[in-house]
Amino acid sequence: MAGIVIVGAGHAGVKVAASLRTMDPDAPITLLSAESQIPYHRPPLSKKSVFDAALPMELLQANGYYEKANIDLRLNTTVTSINPDVSSVTLADGQQLNYQQLVIATGTKVRRLPVPGGERAMSVYTYADIQTLGPRLQSANHIAVIGGGFIGCEIAAGALKIGKQVSLLITGPRALRKSVAPILGETVTKLHRQQGMDIRTGCQVLAITEQGVQTNQGFVQADLIISGIGAQANMQLAQAADLTTDHGILVDEFGRTSLSHIYAVGDVAEFPYGGDLLRLESIQNATDQGANVAANIIAERHHQAPKAYTPTPWFWSDQGDLKLQMAGLGNLDAEHKVLPGNTPNNLTVVHLSKGRMMAVDTLNMPANHLAARKLLEMKKPITWAMIEACDFDLKKLFKQLR
Ligand SMILES: Cc1cc2nc3c(=O)[nH]c(=O)nc-3n(C[C@H](O)[C@H](O)[C@H](O)COP(=O)(O)OP(=O)(O)OC[C@H]3O[C@@H](n4cnc5c(N)ncnc54)[C@H](O)[C@@H]3O)c2cc1C
Repeated sequence: MAGIVIVGAGHAGVKVAASLRTMDPDAPITLLSAESQIPYHRPPLSKKSVFDAALPMELLQANGYYEKANIDLRLNTTVTSINPDVSSVTLADGQQLNYQQLVIATGTKVRRLPVPGGERAMSVYTYADIQTLGPRLQSANHIAVIGGGFIGCEIAAGALKIGKQVSLLITGPRALRKSVAPILGETVTKLHRQQGMDIRTGCQVLAITEQGVQTNQGFVQADLIISGIGAQANMQLAQAADLTTDHGILVDEFGRTSLSHIYAVGDVAEFPYGGDLLRLESIQNATDQGANVAANIIAERHHQAPKAYTPTPWFWSDQGDLKLQMAGLGNLDAEHKVLPGNTPNNLTVVHLSKGRMMAVDTLNMPANHLAARKLLEMKKPITWAMIEACDFDLKKLFKQLR
């Protein structure tokens, strides 16, 4: 019998499958993965696994879970097309699989460096990547990391910590330019430099050779080059099937694509948020949207009303000894105010837009992050005056507003 077919077994696909099984013990669920590994957590790859081959893979579900839950997980199985007219997908071996509901959870693929020799730069996305990269990293002396986003900074900081000489090449004026408040990006850049990281800002990569990286600021010698310049939505399947796409597969607030019975979820999905469209690359989004889509599939199967996905986004990044946590969606155009009482390694920055708190970035201050998340989840207007009236104590403010 045709059931629910999920393409992609990353954080989002697995969450959809597991949530579906919790809600319906009998629905046939097939989970298709192009990868050969049992589904695993991606964040540890750039934070620890790549630096220590002995660390076991962290699984999304315990060994044996899929069999016990009667989820038909098929590894090494790539979907080559979606055929909406006949409600089926075609697999690489030519097999057709029918669906009643289809979930596209194909995530993203890493951007390749568009310069001569760009293919020499390695990247970190899959467990297979780190099995190749890990040994190269151990034997390298000087590592050049290209890209100052979360993943680039995590790899650079981790490599520095295991005693490597590290150059971090960044096009912008500071690390994490697009992801956190400027003062936090500047602080992180300064702290990494203090640890001995060679951070080059305003640095354009022109070419990669066997000896290193040619840049607009001269040649950077390196025996290993790693690129972390972002990712783009894996939406070829959707485009070929004429689903509406933009920077991701467009879905409504219920996770439904432009074609009936087809949902998209996680990194690949672009959804309505605050009057705009948003595609997020985060575990919070993959997990929460996964649970929401599963609930909406069950609703569809029982002819019930779907529920809208209204997230409070949050992210984290571990860079050496620095723990960054972001609650809400920050904005470079926002007003950024720093909570008093910080030390050189601790910082809390509030993003205010039209006088209202929209995000909070923290460095090594997990209690403030948790309080900020709870405050943002309340979806009440919060002003700087209210924070000040609570002695800049976000936890106290939450207790007051609860
Ligand atoms: C190194 C690294 C570190 C990260 N660290 C953090 C972090 O600290 N915090 C955070 O919030 N987020 C982090 N992220 C982002 C987070 O991992 C992603 O947001 C999350 O994995 C998205 O889940 P997903 O299921 O949408 O996509 P993915 O995890 O990318 O999974 C998609 C899966 O679909 C498969 N697939 C694609 N096409 C097909 C096909 N045609 N047929 C079958 N299978 C297919 C892919 O092989 C893949 O296994 C990190 C990402 C990386 C790469």
